[in-house]
Amino acid sequence: MTAARLLIVGPQGSGKGTQGVRIAEALGIPAVSTGDVFRANVKEGTELGQQVKAIIDAGDLVPDELTGAIVRDRLEQADAAGGFLLDGYPRNVSQVRDLDAFLRDRDEELTAVIELVVPRDESIARLSKRAAEQGRSDDNEESIAKRLSIYERETAPILDVFRERGIVDQVDGVGSLDEITERITAALVARGITA
Ligand code: AMP
Repeated sequence: MTAARLLIVGPQGSGKGTQGVRIAEALGIPAVSTGDVFRANVKEGTELGQQVKAIIDAGDLVPDELTGAIVRDRLEQADAAGGFLLDGYPRNVSQVRDLDAFLRDRDEELTAVIELVVPRDESIARLSKRAAEQGRSDDNEESIAKRLSIYERETAPILDVFRERGIVDQVDGVGSLDEITERITAALVARGITA
């Protein structure tokens, strides 16, 4: 059996948060979402939250060093020793290098990267719906446009790095929640990653 050290990547509105949690639960590994960590800190008004609130609301990226330290901290906790699913990190090539170095020190590496493929129009439609339903402070038109363009410019290139390693599975992100979970599960099973 291959260790589940996973990353889920997709544009904003691709459903990667929801699918990440489902897959992690099924595999019994923690889902680590940097966006969730930041939002929880903003909500609680911690020092970190105060540092990142304006950045997140504007749709910009939090500095790599700060984000990297948070992820390292989380992955060092005992429940991540046997595997984890990262959602939203790494998000640019420099974060890939940081994560690689951290994992190399532990004799570990990512074992699969799920790329959720959702057309731009569909992501925008889902984000507008989420804005109406959840009132996330970064789901305004300006921030959405900026986040999608950062995704295309900075995040999509990380997939090329992982593609060269042969660990990327492209999964169609359009369909029902269950259908998409099944597609991801099948891709992982094909790599020997099972519960
Ligand atoms: P998400 O929920 O993954 O879309 O993240 C929400 C926001 O948190 C992003 O728009 C960024 O401002 C910040 N963020 C989350 N993950 C990262 C990351 N890996 N690097 C920098 N900023 C991040």
